[in-house]
Amino acid sequence: MFPDETTNIKPLEILELLRGYPFLEDYFLALFHEKDGIVTRLGSGVHLCSLLAGELPCSDKCLISFEKAIRLAVEKGKPMAFNCRAGLMNFAVPYQPRDGIRYCFVGGGVRNHKLDVFMAEEMAKSGQADAFRLLDRLEELPAATVQEVKDAAGKVSKLLSALDQDSLQSRLLEKTMERLQSISGIASQLDGTASVTELAALLSETLGVVFDRSKIALGLRDSQGCRVFGIAGLPATLRTMADSCFELMFPRGGGAPARLTAKTLADCFPEAGAERAVCVPVASGEEIAGFLAFFDADIDRRDALLVSMVAERIASRIIQFRKDEARKRESSLAGRFMAVLSAISAAESKREVYQSILETAADLIRASSGSLMLVDESGRNLRIESVKGMNLQLARSMSARVGRGIAGKVAETGEPLLVTDIEKDSRVRIANRTRFRTKSFLSIPLRVKGNVIGVLNLSDKGDGTVFTAEDLELLTEVARYACVVLERTEFSEKAAQLEDMTVTDPLTGLYNRRYLELRLEEEISRGVRHQQSFTLMLVDLDNFKVYNDLCGHAAGDVVLKKTARLLKNSARQMDVVTRIGGERFCIILPATPGKDSLSVAERFRFEVERAGFTHEENLPLGRLTVSIGLASFPGNGNEVNALMNSAEIALQRAKIGGRNRAVHFEASLSPPSPAVAAPAKIPKLVKATA
Ligand code: GH3
Ligand code: MG
Repeated sequence: MFPDETTNIKPLEILELLRGYPFLEDYFLALFHEKDGIVTRLGSGVHLCSLLAGELPCSDKCLISFEKAIRLAVEKGKPMAFNCRAGLMNFAVPYQPRDGIRYCFVGGGVRNHKLDVFMAEEMAKSGQADAFRLLDRLEELPAATVQEVKDAAGKVSKLLSALDQDSLQSRLLEKTMERLQSISGIASQLDGTASVTELAALLSETLGVVFDRSKIALGLRDSQGCRVFGIAGLPATLRTMADSCFELMFPRGGGAPARLTAKTLADCFPEAGAERAVCVPVASGEEIAGFLAFFDADIDRRDALLVSMVAERIASRIIQFRKDEARKRESSLAGRFMAVLSAISAAESKREVYQSILETAADLIRASSGSLMLVDESGRNLRIESVKGMNLQLARSMSARVGRGIAGKVAETGEPLLVTDIEKDSRVRIANRTRFRTKSFLSIPLRVKGNVIGVLNLSDKGDGTVFTAEDLELLTEVARYACVVLERTEFSEKAAQLEDMTVTDPLTGLYNRRYLELRLEEEISRGVRHQQSFTLMLVDLDNFKVYNDLCGHAAGDVVLKKTARLLKNSARQMDVVTRIGGERFCIILPATPGKDSLSVAERFRFEVERAGFTHEENLPLGRLTVSIGLASFPGNGNEVNALMNSAEIALQRAKIGGRNRAVHFEASLSPPSPAVAAPAKIPKLVKATA
C-alpha cells in the first residue's frame, strides 16, 4: 500500500517493540543503517531529540556526533554511550541480522542530573539562541546518570541478541493484537458519538496514543466545506478547508492513502509545519467524506491496515450523522409543512385565508415581514390583501401595477424572484427601503389554472441571514397548495352567494317559493318512500291591504318581518318556514298528519294574534291576524300543485269563515263547507270584508 520499501523491513518493527519497553521510556529511539560507508536514518520522525524539536541551533551538527558514534559502534560491534554536542547522553547499539546490512539502534535525549550552565551559554552563543530558553528546555528533559545510560544500552544489546525469529514474531503479534484491541475499542466508542465534534474529541484522546504519532489531523466534510480538527500535536479546531484541497490530496480518488507532495502539504496544511504527510481517505464507496493526515511520519503496512479500519468506521459514522441530520430536517420540515397546510385549510373567510397564507408562509421560512397581493378585476393592478410586519393602510396605498416594480414583474412573468441583495442584484438593483432590515427577499407568483392571480412577497429573515434556494422551494410548495385553497374559497363563496340569492327572501330572510317547491318535492318523495304523511300550511295576513293603506308600505314591511319572526319561532326545528309572496307564508310540517295539524296551526295563529302590532287597532278585526289553510299529504294531494291547491282552498274557506282562523282541507267539504277550527278566542268583528 505504501511505496516505501524500507518501512517493511524487520529492524523497524524491532524499533517499535523497543519503544514499548518501560526502561526505554525516557529515551528517544531511532534506527540507522550503514551501507557502503553511508549512515542513513530509517523510519519516522524528523528530530532526534526533543531539544532539537524546539528549533535550536544544533540540528546539523548533532547529526555529525551521532554519525561518528554510530560508525564506531557498528565497527566494534558493541554498544556504546556517547554525548552529543549539547551534552545530552545517548547510546548506540549495533544490530546485524542475516540480511547483511549493518543496523544501529540509537537512544538518547536524556540529560545529566547536573545542568552544565556554561555549556548551554556556549551553545546559545554559537547558535545565536537565547541562553535562558535553552536552559529551560534542557531542564524539561528527563535526567539520568552515565551508568544508567550504559545499562540501558547493555539491556538493548542483550535483548537484540536474544531475539530470534519466533519470539520476534510473537512479540509483534502481541503488539498488533493490543493495537487491534484499542482500535476496536475506539471503533465501538465512535458509534456512540452524537456529533462530528464529539467524534473528533474521542479520536484526539485515543488515536495519537495508539499510533504514537506526534501530529495527526482529521478532516470531515459537510455542505459548508471540510472542517479540520487537530487530533494530536495540533490545535483542536483548525479551520475549514476548501473543497479543492481534496483534489490536490487525492488526485486519483479516495481508494488509497496518499503521500502529499511538498507543495500540496504547504497549500493544504500550512499550519502543520511539517515536511511530509500521509493522508488516509475517510471514504465510503466513491465518496470521500474526509481524511486522516499523519504528519512527519511513515505508516507501515500493519499500521496502514489499522488506520484504514479506523477510517472506515469514521466514514460510516459520518454517513450516519448525515442521514440522521437529513431525517431530522425532513421530519421537522414535514411537521412545519403540515402545520402550514392545516392552518391554511382552517381559515374560513376569504380574508382569513389570505392572512393565513401569508402568516404561515412567513413562519415557515422565518420571514418577519411580507405581503399578499392579488391581481384586480381589470388584470392591470395588484391589490394588497394582507400584510405582515407593516401597516395595512400604508401598504394598501402602495398598490402596484402588473409589469412594474418587483411584485409587478413577478405577476407579469410568473417567475419567482429570490434576491439576496436588493442593491446588488442586477434584476432589481434598487436602494433598500428603510423599513426592511435586510436586503434579501422572496417574491413568488400565485397561480390558479395557469393564470397568475397574485404575488406573495416575504422579506426580513428572522436571524438576519439571506433567503436560500431551499426557502424558495419550500415556499413554492406552500404557494401551490395555497392556490388550491384560494380557488376553492373563491368558488365556495360565490356559490354560497348564488345559493342565498336564489332561495332566500331578502325582506324576511325566510326561504322563498323556489326553495319551498324543492323541499315539497323532497318531502313528497320521502313521504312516498316511508309512507309518512306531512302537512302544508298556508298563512295569509288578514286585511293587510287595509293595514298598508292606513300605515304605509314601510310599516307593512315591518309587519311582514315581525310575522316572519313569529312564525319561525313557533316552528319546530324541522319545519320549513317560507314566504311565497306578498303577505303569504307557507310552512311545511314534516311528519305531521292532518289530524294533528289543526292544533299546530292554531298555535301559529294565536302567536300572531297576541303579538301586538303598531296601529293594528285600526284593522277590521281590531288586531293583526292571520288565516291559515291546511292540506296534508297524501290524502289532500300527492304532488306539489295538488297539495298547494288544496291548501289554497282551505285558506279561502278560512277567509270566508271570518278570518283569524285555521281550516283543514276536506274533500267532502270542497267546495261546500270545510272543517273549521274555532279560534281560541272569538275575534271581535269590527268590519267584515270578504
Ligand atoms: P285578505 O284578508 O283577504 O287576505 O285581504 P288582504 O288585504 O290581506 O289581501 P289583498 O290581496 O287584497 O292585499 C294584499 C296586500 O298586501 C296588497 C299589498 O299592498 C300588500 N303587500 C304585498 N306584498 C307586500 C310587501 O312586500 N310589503 C308590503 N308592505 N305590503 C305588501
Ligand atoms: Mg291577505
